[in-house]
Amino acid sequence: KKRRTLSADEVVDGVLAGDRTVLARAVTLIESRAEAHRETAREILRRCLPHAGNSVRLGITGTPGAGKSTFIECLGQQICAKGGKIAVLAVDPSSSRTGGSVLGDKTRMELLTREPNAFIRPSPSGGALGGVAAKTREAMLLCEAAGFDHIVIETVGVGQSEVAVRTMVDFFLLLQITGGGDDLQGIKKGVIEMADAIVINKADGANLRPAQIACGEFKRVLHYLNPYTDGWAPQAMTCSALDGSGVDDVWAMVLRFCSELKAAEKFSAIRVEQNRQWLHSLLRDAVLQRFYQGKSVIEQLPQIEHDVASGKLPVVEAVELLLR
Ligand code: GDP
Repeated sequence: KKRRTLSADEVVDGVLAGDRTVLARAVTLIESRAEAHRETAREILRRCLPHAGNSVRLGITGTPGAGKSTFIECLGQQICAKGGKIAVLAVDPSSSRTGGSVLGDKTRMELLTREPNAFIRPSPSGGALGGVAAKTREAMLLCEAAGFDHIVIETVGVGQSEVAVRTMVDFFLLLQITGGGDDLQGIKKGVIEMADAIVINKADGANLRPAQIACGEFKRVLHYLNPYTDGWAPQAMTCSALDGSGVDDVWAMVLRFCSELKAAEKFSAIRVEQNRQWLHSLLRDAVLQRFYQGKSVIEQLPQIEHDVASGKLPVVEAVELLLR
């Protein structure tokens, strides 16, 4: 049975009342690529925006199997037990490229799904990373307007997704596991440089000691890097998302980050920067779209591509030609 279409008023009222069902439909509207939904989606966003922003925005990255969903589930349950509300969103570019999804294939976070104060949303499918990231950012704002005061944005170490998530969160956490000796070589330096903390997960059983040793090594490395966030020295810690030990310490660290930066009057600068990044990422998408949809580009591009392929036209000149 087809659901009745909600008016923009109904959606906004429902979102602001914290109705998860309406929130889910609002996010669907925003993700929709149908032209008919676009104006409604914009209006909903516009009216929810003044109610957004009141949350802790936490980004989590890590290779598949590092324990992200286990960790988020554990953290989410702790947050809900304390009366908080948590929304979990994902940026997963693999879904657009391969049709499959690294983050969304398995049934994830089953316990957290049953929490009335949790909202879990998989990555929007289709579209380039820019599109996926833009939708995730908008979904985050809707969640905040719905009263979710903890936002977790999850991503995997694929392509530019970590950079995209870094620009939309307050605190960026790299979840890491020990792999026997070459832990430091195994991760990309660029990701470490973006992190506010490296958390070595699966610090339990026989893995406890290696995890602690790796933690010490990360601490030394972090000491020599420039912090990403002005006013915060990146931390390294261990935890076990499976038995829960150390997860509360990770959360305490995130809260300390927020309170220290607020006390130093540096927190608002973080949000200003997120907005600036948002502006530029939307602008980039719009300019690209406008360019490729331009009549003369559509007309000329096949011939120009052909001429480049056959060696008749140098790439640099082709670009000049198209931009003119
Ligand atoms: P994700 O791909 O990063 O989301 O990883 P998952 O949360 O799905 O975890 C991958 C596997 O590692 C699962 O079998 C988990 O049960 C296991 N796992 C996650 N956290 C821990 C942990 O702290 N200790 C141990 N021993 N196993 C864990």
